[in-house]
Amino acid sequence: MAKLYFRYGAMGSSKTANAIMVQYNYQERGQNALMLKPRLDNRDGARVVGSRSGLTAPCRFVEEMDEFDLSAYNCIIVDEAQFLTKAQVQRLVDIVDDMDIPVICYGLRADFRGNLFEGSHWLMAWADTIEEIKTVCWCGRKATTNARLLNGRVVKSGEQIVLGGNESYVALCRKHWAKGELAPEEIRRISAGKEAYMPLLLEADPSEAMIRSYLDDSEFYALIARGRCVAVAVVLALGDGAFELKNLAVEEACRAQGYGSRLVRYLIRQLGGQADRLVVGTSPANVGFYERLGFVREGAIPHFFRDNYPEPIYEDGVALDDMITLSIKL
Ligand SMILES: [Zn+2]
Repeated sequence: MAKLYFRYGAMGSSKTANAIMVQYNYQERGQNALMLKPRLDNRDGARVVGSRSGLTAPCRFVEEMDEFDLSAYNCIIVDEAQFLTKAQVQRLVDIVDDMDIPVICYGLRADFRGNLFEGSHWLMAWADTIEEIKTVCWCGRKATTNARLLNGRVVKSGEQIVLGGNESYVALCRKHWAKGELAPEEIRRISAGKEAYMPLLLEADPSEAMIRSYLDDSEFYALIARGRCVAVAVVLALGDGAFELKNLAVEEACRAQGYGSRLVRYLIRQLGGQADRLVVGTSPANVGFYERLGFVREGAIPHFFRDNYPEPIYEDGVALDDMITLSIKL
């Protein structure tokens, strides 16, 4: 007997990554799992599901599912199932009961106001198996709610679905959602959507071409204070037991408050198990900053700034020329 599953979790609980893994497991056994997601007007026009960890997989829209022969599939996986309508959940129930095909739905339970989504409501009501995928709030408690952030603040009113808006979401425990309290300060590793940080990255490295040359292959960390990204760091594995700090940028209004130092200290701890050295190339004005963190001067790359940037970069009125290299043992 096939079953209808509803696997729910807050934002960032790896639901999509989980869905992609399940599809992969079917494929590995020589079976076919169909990946679906509901189509929302204007949003997510592409037939692809993508997780925060950077995994992606092609998919079809739920609205299209009757256009092809579902009996060719051993399983149907639905991502973003909270956006299903009651009628669509009913259709999935019929597929399970009449065609004996298991259907696994992944979605959020409640919206940013604390109300059930339509799809989640009917999946909660009708699914054979309901499972929670857990994630944690910044305080360490289980995150059960999805806070909507607008300009770094938790908002509790507005439309359930905003198309093309600039809101973002963060998973919080019920208490911190109710109080609207975001992490005082947290560092997150960012795998998808690094491009969005380009304006901040350009503050530390004025060449977009240069940034693009390392961005995709690098590890990216963001320091978020009360819901706002105030500093980012980009490190690249050099392959010889060393990581290079390629970019360290702090929002202009937030400089001289220790954010940059805390981010670098975090990197030193974080990268410790993976490499034995962290190296950085910088301009003369920043040498003191790195030395205070324990970096030791190694040497200089003559004319690096003059040779690699189309425009001169001025620091304290002087055009940069040689790049100074420093390193610290991890
Ligand atoms: Zn909390």
